[in-house]
Amino acid sequence: MSPTTYSAASGLQHEEALLFEHAHEDATSIALPGIAGDACPELAAFARQTPALIPGLSEPEAVRHFVRLSQWNHGIETGFYPLGSCTMKYNPRVNEQVVRLPGLAGLHPEQPDDSVQGVLALLFELQQWLGEISGLPHVTLQPAAGAHGELAGMMVIRAYHDARGDTTRRKVLVPDSAHGTNPASAVLAGLETVEIKSGADGRIDLEVLKAHLDDDVAALMLTNPNTTGMFESDIAEICELVHAAGGMVYGDGANLNALVGLARPGDMGIDCLHINVHKTFSTPHGGGGPGAGPVAVNDALAPFLPVPRIERHDNTFRVVRKDAKSIGAIFGSIGQVGVLLRAAAYIAAFGRNHLHRIAEDAVLNANYVLNRLKDAYHVPFPGLCKHECLLTDALQEKHGVKTLDIAKRLIDLGMHPMTVYFPLIVHGAMLIEPTETEARETLDTFCDAMLEIAAACEAGDTEALHAAPLIPFRRRLDETQAARKPVLVWPLN
Ligand SMILES: *Cc1c(COP(=O)(O)O)cnc(C)c1O
Repeated sequence: MSPTTYSAASGLQHEEALLFEHAHEDATSIALPGIAGDACPELAAFARQTPALIPGLSEPEAVRHFVRLSQWNHGIETGFYPLGSCTMKYNPRVNEQVVRLPGLAGLHPEQPDDSVQGVLALLFELQQWLGEISGLPHVTLQPAAGAHGELAGMMVIRAYHDARGDTTRRKVLVPDSAHGTNPASAVLAGLETVEIKSGADGRIDLEVLKAHLDDDVAALMLTNPNTTGMFESDIAEICELVHAAGGMVYGDGANLNALVGLARPGDMGIDCLHINVHKTFSTPHGGGGPGAGPVAVNDALAPFLPVPRIERHDNTFRVVRKDAKSIGAIFGSIGQVGVLLRAAAYIAAFGRNHLHRIAEDAVLNANYVLNRLKDAYHVPFPGLCKHECLLTDALQEKHGVKTLDIAKRLIDLGMHPMTVYFPLIVHGAMLIEPTETEARETLDTFCDAMLEIAAACEAGDTEALHAAPLIPFRRRLDETQAARKPVLVWPLN
């Protein structure tokens, strides 16, 4: 059976053998002359006794295999990708044109500073822009991802407390709605995490927070808007309370797309923030490729930022490689320069006066989706959302249909599913983040698909939902088994 698809992309209709399964002995794409036994007696001892453990393939076979694999991806350029918390926005082509300029693309990270003044000027400018956007003026471009930025930020906060002789502050408070990277980063920085329970509205409960504040608290790590898509409306008071207890407030800036150009985390009282440029600033995203997670901090934390960083002296730019109080290098160079330049191109394309349109349209799109779906799906935290909206499967569960069934059905209908079962504090969560780059027609296409699924549940027509996805060759995979026991090596008996 072939269900109606709602976009040009159908389900993942792919099947491809592994490279080793394609292979046949003795095939090769390289024709070398045979080596006569005595041609090079010095090397005789090194002659291979057993076949090399590489697949035997001709060049076209190898190329076709990899090109086919490259076409399997559902990407932002093949279809809608409303993966909540991940901000899968379109990557404008102008970013690519900028980084391909020969004066940028041909540089080497170890070139002397005086030969790369242009790119240093651009990166310095980006530091300034991120400082202005976040309201936290001192910026390191080094971290290679959001989670890496969290680690850098936690190390900076720890170094700050240590420098004041406050060496017993080791506790980091993390709300139970936080992204899993938050506690992991704090622990990697040698700190201990304490989970704090969210209130019934999904926000930080001030009384619970107060009960946890003491002389051991190094920091509170919080995401705003939080991972339920709601703004922490008590943010000013939250920051005051943490500061009064001697702690710092770390902002997980992954959700900056809801605020950019409109409100500044630094103005809210946040001391340290990472920015996922592959989310807010449209640099390519996913597939394990390079990202960047610059960190912005206030004056008190600035001396501890990683090196190398870029400074300006009159009209020359210098890379500072050593600094007494710095936590040191956390990356091999200034940062992921190619990624950072794309982010700079994106910011420049909007300009200071228009960046706010990103956040406004992102919030508008999320609320549009919420309003079209709110009668068909349960909304755990009613009211306006920010850049993403949260639904659950509570109404469908009565018909035996769960979040996973709904998500899998979307694959058949030609869309990437939303984020499922996150945040963990909401049972059967479906977190939908359309981003500002989607047209109303695309949002309607997605909402129509979601409404069709809800209607099928109501009608008791749930067979396809339980079996979904129907179109892909690989249907329901054992995801737990895949995560726990990944097979990473082809068994070459
Ligand atoms: C994406 C995300 C992170 C981690 O960022 P990466 O760049 O993927 O390492 C952290 N927190 C939240 C809330 C996120 O959405």
